Amino acid sequence: MHELSVVESMMAVVLKHAEKNRAGNVNRINLVLGEMSTVMEDPVKFYFELISRDTIAEGAELSFRRTQLIAKCPDCGEEFKVEEYDFTCPECGGTDTEIVSGREFQVESIEIN
Ligand SMILES: [Zn+2]
Repeated sequence: MHELSVVESMMAVVLKHAEKNRAGNVNRINLVLGEMSTVMEDPVKFYFELISRDTIAEGAELSFRRTQLIAKCPDCGEEFKVEEYDFTCPECGGTDTEIVSGREFQVESIEIN
């Protein structure tokens, strides 16, 4: 399960921000999860509960925002939403397109007190 290392780096980010802002508690962690990400919500929650125990993030609520799969065509600069794994540029028909978003897993913000 690679979610363990994912959650470990997530916690490092959260605790660093919490410390910098002199937080007493972390109430909520807002996460961005791309629709093509290999990270699953349930194992993230599971490992978070384990790892956050006895830290100021213990009991924090995890909120997931799903992002769509967006690709960009280097030939014409078009950005488009990928549907049904069709990465062909709708503008010029180019197939050498690159994923812009949709595979990420990151901390968007945290709510503290
Ligand atoms: Zn194009």
